[in-house]
Amino acid sequence: MSAVEGSPPRASRRRLVLKMSGEALASSASDETIDAAMVEGLAGELASARVDLDLELAIMVGGGNIWRGTTGEGQGIDRATSDTMGMLATVINALALQDAIERHGQPTRVLSAVHMAEVAEPYIRRRAIRHLEKGRVVIFAAGMGNPYFTTDTSAALRAAEIEASLLLKGTHSGVDGVYSSDPMLDPSAERYEALSFMDVVSRDLRVMDLTAITFCKDNCLPILVFDLMAAGHLRRALAGEQIGTLIQ
Ligand code: UDP
Repeated sequence: MSAVEGSPPRASRRRLVLKMSGEALASSASDETIDAAMVEGLAGELASARVDLDLELAIMVGGGNIWRGTTGEGQGIDRATSDTMGMLATVINALALQDAIERHGQPTRVLSAVHMAEVAEPYIRRRAIRHLEKGRVVIFAAGMGNPYFTTDTSAALRAAEIEASLLLKGTHSGVDGVYSSDPMLDPSAERYEALSFMDVVSRDLRVMDLTAITFCKDNCLPILVFDLMAAGHLRRALAGEQIGTLIQ
């Protein structure tokens, strides 16, 4: 754990990064891009887990409920412009999450990779660590600030930068880990409890994008894939329970 001046490292606390897709904030039932009840449910779990489990918790939120770079590219929009639109979408989600988590009394900071001084602090690595040490939930917005990347890769990068012990990848499609094939289509699909990074690559298992997987492999950063939407699973994943699939 990195030392920050004036604050000795707190080895007792686990430092985690949770990657949450933008679609986890949406609801097919209400057809809302950001569904207040969905955000509220997640925020409550995150706020209570942060305190009860004494975590240093950072969240990377995606933007896919609003915009993805590839969506615009398909419509003829310049890819870099479309990706910037996607990054701005993540800022909207980050603010929604911040608002909901703080209503539970848990202080947060949104750190944006794209400068927008009136809205969020800029991402500065040492500042992110300081916020975590003070018990604030850090919400990373705008991915890593560069087009052609996803928030999966951004989450991996930030996790390595802040020296998190684990990257948690919460899925939102009802799949509780990594399977041998798509369990929605193949009833005989088997869930893996543990996998190596090489297994994920060689078996072409679609867990996160390949850039994120190879980055985690190169930097020895384990990933826990779990069902974010299943009751109680977020708490169990944050507590370090053996659920979902662990990739290391
Ligand atoms: N994005 C980007 N650079 C980044 C992070 C995100 O260009 O560092 C853009 C990219 O277009 C992406 C969009 O932001 O499609 C939304 O992020 P993502 O698709 O990862 O969101 P999720 O699917 O997790 O909701």
